[in-house]
Amino acid sequence: MKKILHWIVPFCLSILFFSPASVLASDGPDDLYHAYTDDNTSIMDYFSNHPKVSLAVILGITAVFILLLIVIVYNFRRHNKKLEQLMITDPVTHFPNFEQMKRDTAHFVCPGNGTWYLLYTDIQNFKYINDLYGHALGDWVLTQCLQAIRDKLEPGESCCRMDADHFVQIKHFETEAAMVSALRALAEAAFALINQADILYRLIFRTGVYTLPAGPLDLNMAIDSAIYAKQSQSNSFVSNWTVFDHAMRQNNLKERQMEQDLTHAIRDHEFEVWYQNKVDIETQKIVGAEALVCWRHPKQGLLSPGVFIPFFEKNQFVTRLDFYVFETVCQQLADLRDSGIALVPISSNFSRVHFDNWDLPERCTAITRAHGISPSYLEIEITEEGSLDSIHNVADKLNKLHAAGFSLSIDDFGSGISPVQLLYDLPVDVLKMDRSTLDPHDNEQIHDQITKSIVSIAMANGIKVIFEGVETDDQLDMVRHFGGHIIQGYYYSKPAPFASFKKQLAEN
Ligand code: C2E
Ligand code: MG
Ligand code: MG
Repeated sequence: MKKILHWIVPFCLSILFFSPASVLASDGPDDLYHAYTDDNTSIMDYFSNHPKVSLAVILGITAVFILLLIVIVYNFRRHNKKLEQLMITDPVTHFPNFEQMKRDTAHFVCPGNGTWYLLYTDIQNFKYINDLYGHALGDWVLTQCLQAIRDKLEPGESCCRMDADHFVQIKHFETEAAMVSALRALAEAAFALINQADILYRLIFRTGVYTLPAGPLDLNMAIDSAIYAKQSQSNSFVSNWTVFDHAMRQNNLKERQMEQDLTHAIRDHEFEVWYQNKVDIETQKIVGAEALVCWRHPKQGLLSPGVFIPFFEKNQFVTRLDFYVFETVCQQLADLRDSGIALVPISSNFSRVHFDNWDLPERCTAITRAHGISPSYLEIEITEEGSLDSIHNVADKLNKLHAAGFSLSIDDFGSGISPVQLLYDLPVDVLKMDRSTLDPHDNEQIHDQITKSIVSIAMANGIKVIFEGVETDDQLDMVRHFGGHIIQGYYYSKPAPFASFKKQLAEN
C-alpha cells in the first residue's frame, strides 16, 4: 500500500503541475489569457468577474501545495526510518549492532547473584583469514560466528559484533562451569563452520569475562573490565577465557601510568642497556654478550624488562625501544673499539611485533653504517615463538638481514614447540637453548637424546649453540654432557652496566 502511495502521489502531482504548465509552455501567458478572455480587460478583472474560476484556481493551487507537503513529509519519514535502521544494523553481519545492544540493555538491572556475565570475545588469528582467504570470506566467518552466538541467546540476553573481530554478549549462566562449557561449545561450533568452508585455520577465541554486579548495568564499564581480563591473557594456541578481578584494573592503571611516563623516558635516557657475557667454558673467555634493556624509572627505581616489555609489546612501543637499544649497542661498540678493546659479537633482542611490518634489514644496516660498525659484530635475537608465528612472512626478511652480514639467533629454543625445521627454513647462525632445557624432565632419557641430537645437528651445520640460565656446577656438567661449550648465565656473570662490561672485556 505504502509503495503504491509512494508512486501515485508524485504521479497525480505531476499531472496537476504539468497540464497547466504544458499549456503555458505551448501557448505562452498571452495566449492563455486570450483563451479565457475575448476583450482587452486585465486578468485581474477577469478573475473578479468570474469568482467561481478564481475559487477553483485557489483551491487547485492549495491542493497542489498540500499534496507536495504530504509527499515531502512521507519521504522524509521514510528516509528517517532507513537511517534509523542503518544506525542499529551492523553493515558486516546485518544483525543488530552495538547501538541496538545499548538500547536493549538501557534498563537492564542485574540481580547481582553472580549469574549474569558480560563476555568480550576476540578472534585471535582472524587477520590470517582476511589475508589468506579475502575479506568476503572474512565477513562470512564473522557473520557465522555471530549467528552461532545468537542461536544460544535466551530471552533477556543480548549480543552483537562490537567492531572488527570483537563480540560482546550479555548472558545468564547458573554456574561459572556452565559459562565455560558454553564458550567451549562456541569454539567447537566455529571449528565446524570453518571446516565447512575448507579454511585450514582453527579460530582461536580469547574471551574476557566480567561478572555483572547488582544494580543497573554500566555497559561501558563492564566492557572495559572484560577487555582488561582478555588482555591479561598471554597469547596462546588454544581458545581461552579469563574472569576479571580487581587486580587487573590496578594493573591497567599502572600500564596507563607507564604509557604516560614513556613520553619522557627515551628523551631523558631512562632506558639503559646492560650486558650479560657469553662465556666459552673451555677457555673461560668472554666470546660475546647479550644486550638487555632496563628502565631506570624516576619513581619506581630500576625495572627489569620482564616488567615492561610485555606491555610495550601490546602498545607497539617495543619497536621503537628495540631500535633504541640496537643503536646504543652500536654506539658502545664504537666506544670499545675507540678504546682499543677487542670487540666481541653483541646480540640484541627484537620483539615478534616487528614481524607484522618491519624494515629491519634496511634500518639495521643504516644504524651500523652511521656508527662505523661491521654487521658481523651484531646478532639479531628473535624468539622461537616469534619465528613460529609467521615463519613465511619473516623468512624473506631474515634472509635479507643475513645477506647484509648480521647473524641471526633463535632465542629461548626449547621453551615451546621448537621445531627443528626452523633450522633449515631460516638462516640461523646461533641457537640459544632455553633455561628450561636444564630443568629436570619427566622422561629424562628422551629429553637427553633430543637435546644431544639438536646440539649435534646444529653444530654440524655451523650453528653456534649457547646454553642460557646456567647457575650451578650441575647445570654446567649437563651443558658439557649435551655437547655444548658456550653458556650465558649467573654462573659466570649477571647482566651489568656498560662501564662494568667494558672493564671485563678489557681484562678478557
Ligand atoms: P632473554 O632474551 O632470554 O634474556 C635472558 C634473560 O635471562 C635475562 O632476563 C637474563 O637476566 C636472564 N638470565 C640470564 N642468566 C640467568 C640465570 O642464570 N638465571 C636466571 N634465573 N636468569 C638468567 P631479563 O634481563 O630480565 O630479560 C628478560 C627478557 O626480556 C629477555 O629474555 C628478552 O626476551 C626480553 N628483553 C630484554 N631486553 C630486551 C630488548 O631490548 N628488546 C626486547 N624486545 N626484549 C628484551
Ligand atoms: Mg634474548
Ligand atoms: Mg633467552
